Amino acid sequence: MGYSPLPITAISERLLRNWVRCRRRAWLDRHGDGEERLWTAHRTLQLNNQYRIFNELLTKKPSRGIEACKRGEPAVIGIRFKANFGPNNQIIEVHPPLLQRIKGKSCWGNFAYRPVIAQQGKRLTREHRLTLALMCLLVESNQKSSITNGLAVAKTQQGLTFRKVSLTSGIKSQLFESLQKLNQDLEKDHPPPITAERKKCTLCSWRGICNAEASREGHLSEVSGIGTSRRQMLQEAGINGLEELASTDHFYLETYLKRFGDQHSGAAKKLIAQAKAQRDGLVDRFNNSPALPELSKAPGVLIYDIESDPDERQDFLHGFLRINRNTKGEWDLANAIYHPILIVNKNDNSIAWRRIRKKLSNYPQWPILHYGETESIAIYRLAKREGADEKELLNLKKRLFDLHEIIKSRWYLPLNSYGLKKVASWLGFKWRKTGVEGANALLWWRQWEELRINKKDKLNPLKNIFEYNHDDCLATWQVAKWILKQDQSNPL
Ligand code: SF4
Repeated sequence: MGYSPLPITAISERLLRNWVRCRRRAWLDRHGDGEERLWTAHRTLQLNNQYRIFNELLTKKPSRGIEACKRGEPAVIGIRFKANFGPNNQIIEVHPPLLQRIKGKSCWGNFAYRPVIAQQGKRLTREHRLTLALMCLLVESNQKSSITNGLAVAKTQQGLTFRKVSLTSGIKSQLFESLQKLNQDLEKDHPPPITAERKKCTLCSWRGICNAEASREGHLSEVSGIGTSRRQMLQEAGINGLEELASTDHFYLETYLKRFGDQHSGAAKKLIAQAKAQRDGLVDRFNNSPALPELSKAPGVLIYDIESDPDERQDFLHGFLRINRNTKGEWDLANAIYHPILIVNKNDNSIAWRRIRKKLSNYPQWPILHYGETESIAIYRLAKREGADEKELLNLKKRLFDLHEIIKSRWYLPLNSYGLKKVASWLGFKWRKTGVEGANALLWWRQWEELRINKKDKLNPLKNIFEYNHDDCLATWQVAKWILKQDQSNPL
């Protein structure tokens, strides 16, 4: 990995935030090759969240720049503060997303400012607290007056919620300690190790090089089913990589993991089998019961996939792909029909259920295939909330088939994840847009909502969402076809 000597550049709140998320990330931000970065929708979604929160918070447009502070405007954006500061008297630079005028005295007059951040997610995390504390200290040193807190604003179902982060001595010492450690990491000529919490990597722009390295070196976190705590347990048992796990005796591992509880010891055999499948690149079927017998006599099948806005708790798109059998009794994918049911307003549950119910009742005997539990939970909950009776709910439950669950309960695949993207890509499926994920669909939805409000041409984001959702349905069918083929070649 390339390393460039540490330039004398400032430490920003963004670098600190990324370091809190993953130490390696901050190192790569400073020394990594920018060409290796991959685009992620996460950052754009964060900015979009910030825009929506501030829009709701402020009664009028904020003013911009240091002149606005001198005038004492109530809300100011576009400010960058710099100061020599911290344990090594290093250069620190912050860019508070918003400054809010508060009571007090500053070098600008009989008022002062405090920083405000838009909080992503429900929980106020260490990342929020430390970056806000850093901003507070820089605001203090620039306005030449002290402040007691910064503000984190979140958007919830109940509206905006406000959390003050007080500038206590405790948080200051945490901040100084973090800055010191961050500096030490940045001065090293090699990056810190890949994080054990690999879930974080899906949101990170360095995931391309880190995933490649983890796979090349056979990290334990590459084995599907191993998270942070299991990884630690395995390391304690003297197993440090995928190869070692694959060749471990399962009685030894089962006995060792007993001290952590039955759940872990019970998983020993599965973990070893999974590591073997990945090491050898082989598919291993461990349960021979038919996987999808319900499809053998079905006249057709519905594939179901939803797109959601988790912050708003809104399922804005229910996509259905209808696949009939042709006259020869084969599945007629060439004439499959995709039907997106778009729910524009989040409170339109009864409209959503009416339309979905109509769709389902048009094909009463057809199984509904989906990938992952999200769809079955969402549709069942919606039906219940809208007054479906016991018989209808039971019938709905019987018709839903989760392919993710079916796969996981029958096969070990040579893959580090059993997510739809991974499994369908392994089976040769290609999405029309490469590198797109659920976060992109959410971003397009937010863009579409803004265009709709401003009465501008709003077709493009919607077309992208439909195409992505349609492709997810087709990918789900690709997995279903593979399962059916396995059943045919493995009759009981
Ligand atoms: S991809 Fe993962 S390990 Fe690599 S820098 Fe990002 S969060 Fe850290």
